[in-house]
Amino acid sequence: MEAMSREQKLHPDSVVVSAGRPEVPGAPVNQPIVLAATFRAGADGNAYLRNESSDTVRALEEALGALDGGSALVFASGMAALSAVIDSRPVGCTAVVPAAAYSGTVSAFAAAERLGRMSLRPVDITDTDAVRAALPGADLLWLETVTNPLLGVVDVPELVDAAHEAGALVGVDATFSTPRGIRPLDVGADVVLHSATKFLSGHSDVLLGALVARDTDLVETIATRRSLGGAMPGALECYLALRGVRTFAVRMDRAEANAAELACRLERHPSVTRVRYPGLASDPGHERATRVLRGFGAMISFEVAGTADDAERVCSRVRLITHATSLGGVESLIERRARYDVDAGFGTPAALLRMSVGIEHVEDLWQDLEHALGA
Ligand SMILES: *Cc1c(COP(=O)(O)O)cnc(C)c1O
Repeated sequence: MEAMSREQKLHPDSVVVSAGRPEVPGAPVNQPIVLAATFRAGADGNAYLRNESSDTVRALEEALGALDGGSALVFASGMAALSAVIDSRPVGCTAVVPAAAYSGTVSAFAAAERLGRMSLRPVDITDTDAVRAALPGADLLWLETVTNPLLGVVDVPELVDAAHEAGALVGVDATFSTPRGIRPLDVGADVVLHSATKFLSGHSDVLLGALVARDTDLVETIATRRSLGGAMPGALECYLALRGVRTFAVRMDRAEANAAELACRLERHPSVTRVRYPGLASDPGHERATRVLRGFGAMISFEVAGTADDAERVCSRVRLITHATSLGGVESLIERRARYDVDAGFGTPAALLRMSVGIEHVEDLWQDLEHALGA
């Protein structure tokens, strides 16, 4: 309890360093990796890993919970976390969902609808009026803070209020903005999702998801879904993720600064027709991002002059930047998102490249991009 109140007074940059450490005298500074599926009977807490988790898992949950201001439950992946939310909704419910979002999210909701689990109302979640119009009678509103891969900024505070007026539960995927950009629970959201695979872990070496909520009944429901769905992550993954979380704040400082600089330079490059980055004054989401988010994140999407092939050529010419999917690691990654049917299906421009900006030196990144874009 004492540790909890201390963390509430700290800045996130300190929370990531201090939360989730053993505090009794003689304890190791880092929570050890407990590799056990089961525990000796007779004590409260630990029993069977899939149901009760373990100290290694709970250490990471403590840190993620402190960061978002709620109780965190970690999952074997971001998608396992999303599945727990979808599976906890009653059969036959109605969900207002993003028409354009992370491809796995769009596919998971579509699959739930095909199976008769729920009916969907897909909307442009950056269009506040469109979301409002879709809400009456809905049971669930699912949002992203900053949309993948179009980097549209969503008015989370406004939409949370509108959804609650309509009686809908609100879930927010805050993977792109991270708890530094916005804490959705603070503006009333019911549950936050992180693909901790990305910025929170930060090293592209684990798959991990998290849900964070305040309502004890909802936390209980989610914990039950995790247990029944068998979505508990492994201890090694949790240890690595918490080790990554320790440097989350400094990594984000560098990555965001790099992204801001690269976005400005890309905007002036003759081979680039459009840059999507909420930190640019020219970006349609800039004003909203300034109001809703702290920081503009480390993701940039930009469109290359020419065709899909021209964009693919840029990906094949980078040397420092890696041509690969995913995001949020220390290393910069780039890919053409419309290569995926789901992304092409919701209108991602064919020549759009999504770049996850890492923590390399910005001049080296720029030189690599300039070379890849060609003269
Ligand atoms: C990667 C990602 C997910 C899925 O997370 P996994 O850990 O890959 O299962 C969900 N939402 C967003 C925005 C993502 O980028």
